[in-house]
Amino acid sequence: GDSEGDSGGETYTVATDNNFVPFEFMNEETGEMEGFDIDLIKAIADEAGFNIEIESMKFDGVVAGMQSGRYDIGIAGMTITEERKETIDFSDPYYDAGLMLAVSADNDEIQSEDDLAGKKVGTRSGTTSETYIRENHPDAELITFPGIVEAYMDLESGRLDAVMYDVPNVQYYVANDSEGLKTAGDILQGEQYGIAFPKDSELVSDVNEALQTLIDNGTYDDIYEEWFGE
Ligand code: GLN
Repeated sequence: GDSEGDSGGETYTVATDNNFVPFEFMNEETGEMEGFDIDLIKAIADEAGFNIEIESMKFDGVVAGMQSGRYDIGIAGMTITEERKETIDFSDPYYDAGLMLAVSADNDEIQSEDDLAGKKVGTRSGTTSETYIRENHPDAELITFPGIVEAYMDLESGRLDAVMYDVPNVQYYVANDSEGLKTAGDILQGEQYGIAFPKDSELVSDVNEALQTLIDNGTYDDIYEEWFGE
């Protein structure tokens, strides 16, 4: 991992997802992780007076790493769920998200989640979308991938009929990284992202305090604007 900043304080390890645009992804030119979550956790570390070392991995590795206490902090567009709260602590919510479908731009058959029966629907394993499809669409053919980009690529090549994933990721990917895809239907499930910690971490309150300061002093809005343009 790469060390960020030097405030003279403690250094904590931060686990992040290796590819979840625009929250965290590898900038191939610089070889560094960047994105909304990366800027946010750097600003939180500066504000709270600690150093961070960022390590990127598959999303399910972030969840497991928090449960085992292998990393001090996890930031990965991780949805706060009752189930995860049994084994992981979360900060206050820092981003409102939800789930959405992507389909091929010329697909008029799938207009909403009501049209998924018998269709090949891809998503990423260990995520809220996987749970949502299992619980709400047992008649769809669910196909899971370790990385969401692999699912989008199979959608582009016609091996899948739809992909379900987080709204900001679907919208960003459709607008910037793909050709021939569109979103379909409405937001399916309201979700909120939280920064993750091993259970009973003493860092939770420091991070919440720093997060609130960044919201109050406009830093959060500056970071939001940089990645979401509003
Ligand atoms: N928000 C989703 C979840 O928590 C997936 C996040 C991601 O792929 N990084 O399950």
